[in-house]
Amino acid sequence: MALFGRRNKKNHEEPAPPVEPEQVPEPVGPQLPPVDAQGLRSMEDHRDFVLSLIDELPPFGQQLLDAIDLSLCEDVISELDLPGFDNSAMDGYAIQTPDVVGATDQDPAVLAVVGEIAAGQTATHRLSPGTAMKIMTGAPLPEGADAVVKYEDTDRGTDDVLVYAEVAQGANIRRRGEDLAAGTVVLTTGDRLHSGGIGLLAAIGMDKVMVRPRPRVVVIATGSELVDPGTELQHAGQIYDSNSFLLAAAAKEAGAQVFRVGQVSDDPDEVRQLIHDQLVRADLIITSGGVSEGDHDVIKDVMPTMGWCDFAKVAMQPGKPQGFGLIGDDKVPMIMLPGNPVSSFVSFEAFVRPVIRKLMAAEPYVRTAVPAISSTDIVSVPGKRQFARGVVSLDDQDQRRVRWVGEHGSHLLGDLARANGLIVLDEEIEHVTAGDVVPVWQFGED
Ligand code: AMP
Ligand code: MG
Repeated sequence: MALFGRRNKKNHEEPAPPVEPEQVPEPVGPQLPPVDAQGLRSMEDHRDFVLSLIDELPPFGQQLLDAIDLSLCEDVISELDLPGFDNSAMDGYAIQTPDVVGATDQDPAVLAVVGEIAAGQTATHRLSPGTAMKIMTGAPLPEGADAVVKYEDTDRGTDDVLVYAEVAQGANIRRRGEDLAAGTVVLTTGDRLHSGGIGLLAAIGMDKVMVRPRPRVVVIATGSELVDPGTELQHAGQIYDSNSFLLAAAAKEAGAQVFRVGQVSDDPDEVRQLIHDQLVRADLIITSGGVSEGDHDVIKDVMPTMGWCDFAKVAMQPGKPQGFGLIGDDKVPMIMLPGNPVSSFVSFEAFVRPVIRKLMAAEPYVRTAVPAISSTDIVSVPGKRQFARGVVSLDDQDQRRVRWVGEHGSHLLGDLARANGLIVLDEEIEHVTAGDVVPVWQFGED
C-alpha cells in the first residue's frame, strides 16, 4: 500500500519536510510598535509609526499663486540684477551736480529742460552740462546725469527749471543691483513661500517654481445615521454629518487640497466601491467612524480586504481606536479615525496634521507645545494621554493662560467650537490644579 501510494504522487516527489517553526513566513507589513500591559500603544509611537510609512510628495512645478505656503524644492538663483538699471527714486529732474553747486532759494540754478523720461521709457540722448531732464520714479537715469533733484526743490519748470538746492552726487538714484546682484541665491530648498517670496520670484521674472504640492486629501464620513446638513432629518436616530466638514476644514487649514466626499452608509459594498473610486485622486484618505468594537464597524471590516491595515488601541483620550492603511495597488495612505466628533478632531491633530505636513515637507510636522498657566483644575485619566479643549489668552502681564472648557466627553462638540487649543496632559497626570503650567497645542501656530 505504501509503495502504491508513493507511485501515485506527482513526479514521484518525496513528501515535503515539515515546516520548522522558524521558517514560518513573517506576517506581511511593517513591524508594529509595542503595546503596554493593557494592550495600548503610546500616542507618540503610533504617530511616529504612521509618519515612518509616509513619503514626502515628489516635487512639482506650480504657478506662483498656487505655491503660497508650499515648500520650495529648488534653490532659486536670480539671473537678473535688481534693480536692473540705475533709475530715479523720485519724481524730479535728472541733472549734473556741478550745475547746482551753491543753489539756494534766493540764488537758484537755472537749467534748460531738454526732455522727459517716464517709467518704462529711456532717454534718447546724453545729458549735457547746463541741462536737465524731467524724470519720473522708476525711469532709467539718462547717461551723463549723476543725481536727481526732487520736484519739491524746483519750480517744476517745463522750458527752464529753477533748482533751489544743492544735491549730492548720486542723490535720489537707485543703483543697478543694489537690491540683489545677478547670481545671488534668493530662496533656498525648504523655504516656505509667503507673499514676499512670491513677489520676489515674480520680480526676477519667474512664473513657476518647484515645490512640494498641496496633498490631495479625500474626506469621507461613514455612518448610516448621517444626513447632509441643509436637508431635513427624517426620523429620530439620524444626525447631521459634522465630521466630514470638521475634518475637511482642519485638513484645509493644515494646507491640503481637500475633496470632501461626505457621508456613506455602513454598507460594506458601498464603502468598498466609494473608496475604490477615490483612490485615483488621493494622496491621503481620511475616514471617520467604523473603527471601534461595534457590530457595524464597517471600516474595520472592509479595509483589510483592500490593502495593508493596522488597527490599534492608542493610550489617549479621546481617540483610542485608530486605523491606518496603505490601500490599493498604489498603497495610498488612509487614516481611519473614530466617529465621535471630538475624538476625530483630536485624532486629526495628533496624527493627520503631522501626516499632511510631512507630505508637504512643511516642518515642524508635529505641533510645538507651548506652556500656559491653567486657570482651572483639570481631571485626567491616568495611563492615557489626555487632550482637553482649552481657551488660550494672554493676561495683563502677557502671560499665556489656558481655561479648560467643557468636560472630557468625546461627543461634546459645543466646547470644541469655543476652544483655540488642546491641553495635552501626560499619561501619569491625574489632576491639574489651577496655577499649574500645562503644555498646549495652540491652533493657528506651528
Ligand atoms: P462610530 O465611531 O462610527 O461608532 O461613531 C461613534 C459616534 O460618533 C456615534 O455616536 C456616531 O453617531 C457619531 N458620529 C460618527 N460619525 C459622525 C459624523 N460624521 N458626524 C457626527 N457624528 C458622527
Ligand atoms: Mg458609525
